[in-house]
Amino acid sequence: MADLAGRLSIASKAIKYSFLLGVLGVVVDFIFVYLFSNIILVTDLTHWVIDSLLELTFIVALYFATRISRRYPFGFVVLELTLSLIIAITVTGFYMLNLYLYLSQIFNSPSYTVDVNIFSSVATVVGTVLTLASYRVLNTTFNKYKINILKYESKHALLDSLAGIVATTGIILSSVTKSPAIEILFTIVLVVFIFHSMGGIIEDYLRLVYGDTLDYRVAMNVIELLENTLTDKYVKVKRVEARRLSYFYVINIDLYVDPDTTIREAHRLRMEIIRRIIDLYDNVYHVDVRFYPKRIRKIEKKLEKVFDDKIYTKRRK
Ligand SMILES: [Zn+2]
Repeated sequence: MADLAGRLSIASKAIKYSFLLGVLGVVVDFIFVYLFSNIILVTDLTHWVIDSLLELTFIVALYFATRISRRYPFGFVVLELTLSLIIAITVTGFYMLNLYLYLSQIFNSPSYTVDVNIFSSVATVVGTVLTLASYRVLNTTFNKYKINILKYESKHALLDSLAGIVATTGIILSSVTKSPAIEILFTIVLVVFIFHSMGGIIEDYLRLVYGDTLDYRVAMNVIELLENTLTDKYVKVKRVEARRLSYFYVINIDLYVDPDTTIREAHRLRMEIIRRIIDLYDNVYHVDVRFYPKRIRKIEKKLEKVFDDKIYTKRRK
């Protein structure tokens, strides 16, 4: 699967670049929050921190996936996902406390005045430019190499440039109108972007914790692919199982083959199947193909014949 490792490392490079732009965004936002603290900027910073954390998790997972000679360190991925979940919840919790203090200040003191410095929009304009640059890299790499795992990342970057525009508009309008209502409105819109990122982390984590990793849609697509490409009439699909482990899939395929198949033929068939599946999904980490002699199938056939009438009459009822 050298081809897969190559594509994953290209994806990894693009995401690393996007991550560095994200870190730059965090630094710029942090400096401006320090200089001109306002709730819109703090919300924007929280979003940047969580997204950078998400990308870091992805980079680590890709790093392990490209080392195909070794086993995927599932335990490590769980640990890493747990850590990023804890950090993300802490960051969001800290932000929510800030939001609560801000709101209670508005509602409890009638003399509250909006204090937004228009220069703080420099941070959000720089942030928007950085997100667009990140989108460009991810999207260009996706189009050039057709690496599907970059599609989601590039869509997220495009969505985040919208968040940058919202934050910039919010800061400018709040500083001009001095209206708390406008400040609250734009803050809440930005909170939605934080929830969007948090949703991704939590969904991944719950799936791992509950062991809800079977993906029937992917399994069905693989079965369809096999049925369309297996030309040998003696080769039949016995079972396909697709499991999602954080960002990647592990696919197990059981096939019935002619008992006289040589090891060379079986090997060729296995490589062909792996190649086709990787063409379909580039986030497949491992494909396992097991062969069963078709003789077993013949015995089953005989048994089926015995029970066929019973099943048939049952169905008729
Ligand atoms: Zn985001």
